Amino acid sequence: MPPTVTITPGALARLLGGHPWVRRADVVRGPDAAGDIVRVSDGRRDGGTALWSERSRIALRLVAREAVAPNEIEALIDRRIGEAIDRRRAFVSSWDACRVVHGEADLLPGLFVDRYADVAVIQTAATAMDAREEAIAAIVARRLGARLVVARDDGAARDFEELPRRSGVLRGTGPTLVAWHDAGSAMETDVLTDGKTGGFLDQQENHARAASCVEGAPEALDAFTYHGGFALALARAGARVTALDESPVAIDRARKNATLNGVALTARCANAFDALRELEGEGKRFDLVVIDPPALAKRASALPAAERGYKELNLRALRLLRPNGVLITCSCSGRLTRDRFASVVEAAARDVGRPLQLVEQRGAGRDHPSLVGVPETEYLKCWILRALS
Ligand code: SAH
Repeated sequence: MPPTVTITPGALARLLGGHPWVRRADVVRGPDAAGDIVRVSDGRRDGGTALWSERSRIALRLVAREAVAPNEIEALIDRRIGEAIDRRRAFVSSWDACRVVHGEADLLPGLFVDRYADVAVIQTAATAMDAREEAIAAIVARRLGARLVVARDDGAARDFEELPRRSGVLRGTGPTLVAWHDAGSAMETDVLTDGKTGGFLDQQENHARAASCVEGAPEALDAFTYHGGFALALARAGARVTALDESPVAIDRARKNATLNGVALTARCANAFDALRELEGEGKRFDLVVIDPPALAKRASALPAAERGYKELNLRALRLLRPNGVLITCSCSGRLTRDRFASVVEAAARDVGRPLQLVEQRGAGRDHPSLVGVPETEYLKCWILRALS
């Protein structure tokens, strides 16, 4: 029998209602024996099996409604990874890179797995998952037939559990530089040293959608290009693209990727806030602008400043658009809700004084699903707008 953690009846009702987390404040009594796989109860009703964390504000993450013995947990993870892969096959079979496990939304809290061609990248953000990372790497290698499995446990998500930030090869051999395709564009990424897990897989479907906005040979600006996700998709569709990023490493990759795809790309290292102002001053105008900054609101206290940042970027982008021009604007800050993002866009439209058509509200790709009733699992906004005059 696993140890038992006792929580408040209110927290148990929330668990049974589908929200997989219990905050530390709702824990009445911690585990009655050592272990990170626990049974949850309010003293009367059973809440299922959860991952226990000593340190995080989220004390419990539900893994199963039923009782699961600690020695059965790896078999459960194995089965769930298999189910997650099967679900992806139905949606994203034509792409050789996608997120195959997306945490809570795949009933695998604190576990994220990305596939780039024959390489897999794992991130763990829960102590109990972290403790089993070697076993998870073996499961992932077997189920995906991956030649290399890498850990990218160097993100901020680990800080909540006070897990050390680290990265390294977990299994396999060969280069960590991987050739893969992002929405049809050839890419080269070092999964061990580049940003995030190497690519921004959550934007792949939006890269493809951006390409479908191209008619003729419009002039486009991709202000936060990273390795050229949007820029290359646009250029391959016929747009003449200027791509900006403040990271010289990212710009080098974007240029190299442009060569791989046989397209011309004007890629330059610049701070987008400054560059947008300068381009406006020079009288430069575009038919399509993409704004996809890094998360500007990492903490709740940073939200007001972040909103000012997003507003400025959107306002400046709108000023650069020719009549009938398209703005593709994104925010990956989970704290900036869809409603607040809408307010930011609205404020920018008001200031620029142009009628703005909302063409489409998009989010992360289908391989990054969210859980209904768990707003924390929805983070990416990608809206397509058209400045009518
Ligand atoms: N659009 C990309 C992902 C962008 S991630 C895609 O779809 O794949 C955000 C990028 O913004 C990072 O590459 C980071 O280096 C860059 N960045 C951060 N601050 C910046 C700034 N002030 N100006 C320009 N680029 C910036």
